[in-house]
Amino acid sequence: MIKAGEHKVGEPFRLTCKNCGKTFESIRSNTIFCCSKCCADFNRHEKTKSREHERICLNCGQTFVTSRADKKYCSEICRNSAHIARRRAKRSKEKTE
Ligand SMILES: [Zn+2]
Ligand SMILES: [Zn+2]
Repeated sequence: MIKAGEHKVGEPFRLTCKNCGKTFESIRSNTIFCCSKCCADFNRHEKTKSREHERICLNCGQTFVTSRADKKYCSEICRNSAHIARRRAKRSKEKTE
C-alpha cells in the first residue's frame, strides 16, 4: 500500500506488471498488469497451472503431471503396452475357459 504523502495527487503510480515485470504508470494504485494482454496471459497461465495435477502411470508406476482428468498413462508407449497386456490377458482367459 502506498501511504498518503508518498504519492502526489494527479500523478500516476509507478507499478510493476505482475505478468511481464515491466514498470508502468497507472492512475490507479491497485492495477496489477500493464495491459489487458498481460492480464489475460497471466490468468490463462494460472488456470492451466491449477488444472495440472500429479498422477501415477497405470503401466510403469511413475508419477507424471497432466492437466487432463482422463489421462492414465505417462506416455503413448505405456498406454499402448497396457492395451496390449490387457488384450493378451483377455485372450489367455478365453483359452482357459
Ligand atoms: Zn505486462
Ligand atoms: Zn508409464
